[in-house]
Amino acid sequence: MKDYQIGTRCVQAGWEPKNKDPRALPIYQSTTFTFDSSQDMAACFDLESDAYFYSRLANPTPEAVAKKIANLEGGEGAILTSSGQAANFYALVNICKAGDHIVSSSALYGGSYNLFANTLADMGIQSSFVAPDASLEEIEAAFRPNTKCLFGETLSNPALKVLDIEAFAQIAKEHGVPLIVDNTFATPIHCRPIEWGAHVVTHSTTKYMDGHAVALGGAIVDSGNFDWEAHRDKFPSLTTPNDSYHGLVFTENFGRGAYMAKMVATLMRDLGSTPSPFNAFLLNLGLETLHLRMARHRENGLAVAKFLANHPKIAWVKYPDLEGDQEYERAKKYLPQGSCGVVVFGVQGGREAAQTFMDGTQLAAIATHVADARTCLLHPASTTHRQMTDQELKEAGVSPDLIRLSVGIEDVEDIIRDLETSLAGI
Ligand SMILES: *Cc1c(COP(=O)(O)O)cnc(C)c1O
Repeated sequence: MKDYQIGTRCVQAGWEPKNKDPRALPIYQSTTFTFDSSQDMAACFDLESDAYFYSRLANPTPEAVAKKIANLEGGEGAILTSSGQAANFYALVNICKAGDHIVSSSALYGGSYNLFANTLADMGIQSSFVAPDASLEEIEAAFRPNTKCLFGETLSNPALKVLDIEAFAQIAKEHGVPLIVDNTFATPIHCRPIEWGAHVVTHSTTKYMDGHAVALGGAIVDSGNFDWEAHRDKFPSLTTPNDSYHGLVFTENFGRGAYMAKMVATLMRDLGSTPSPFNAFLLNLGLETLHLRMARHRENGLAVAKFLANHPKIAWVKYPDLEGDQEYERAKKYLPQGSCGVVVFGVQGGREAAQTFMDGTQLAAIATHVADARTCLLHPASTTHRQMTDQELKEAGVSPDLIRLSVGIEDVEDIIRDLETSLAGI
């Protein structure tokens, strides 16, 4: 499948049926698998067999879908998780423990910021934040002897900042740590961070990959390109004997697959953020049209961004593919086929006008979601950031008038007419 174009791989990679197998990916809705001999099953518990035995660890349906995502990202291996939050958590704690430190881009999804600043901090893992376009010196200065990884979002949610992946990858390499990139908004259709030097890629598949707002999920893809053995003192959980598997050493047993093998064998085993086979099946349906939908989301997003930029009642618009946008040059480099369907903007008249505008749309629904087929919008100041004063919002980088619009794949004339009608009502 590797030799085919990316659209072909969206449709056919992962589940590759043999003679007389079902053509479509089957849903193995079973928690467990049967064995004829207890010795056979014992081998599974020693990681000597890759047979399925219990769906918390592995199941053929999510496994086939993970294989498709690994293929699309150009990675060595991948697993699915029950949510995007679980994916980022696993990607980090697979190599970080209490006493360790992470350097992250400051342009992050709110849930990821909370994970870093609160939950991981409570677990003894500290984080430092740097701007997504920080200079090499600035990123360098954030590193400590106990830093274990560098993290960023290709296209940040909701600020739409474009990560300088190549620069981040270079610094990560110099410091002997992996670069982990959350590629949720760009998807592998528009950017493949591994090609720019990232070592691990994560996803909230809940967004464009599912694309229909029906299945929560996440994914972690390993490039297989990080040399854990070369930095063995930093990553003892991968390079020294593991007591829970009779002294097995993941890098010795699994080579390029060590990071992924350890994640399944320890984190999935002990924490269990497993996706359901049915959700994996739904995700696969979404992935089969990802290349078509991303092109349309982007086409519609750009048309809407241009419409808003020229409207007198709009105070400002942020969209990386809009000429003159702060991110325009970096977007051209990392997202040559465009960013995505998310546009953020402010209406003249601040918080009150924003709310009137939101209430006036018909086609675009108010929803705590982005990146699905249906156009939706969210006003953080009156919802997710509701408890904050205007001053606090400003400090959080969310202006009181900011509206996050997720442009869907409807006919763009209808989307624009809906926005136009609502703007006329302010
Ligand atoms: C939504 C999102 C997440 C969290 O994913 P869930 O599937 O909601 O848990 C993580 N990162 C980014 C960039 C997101 O947009």
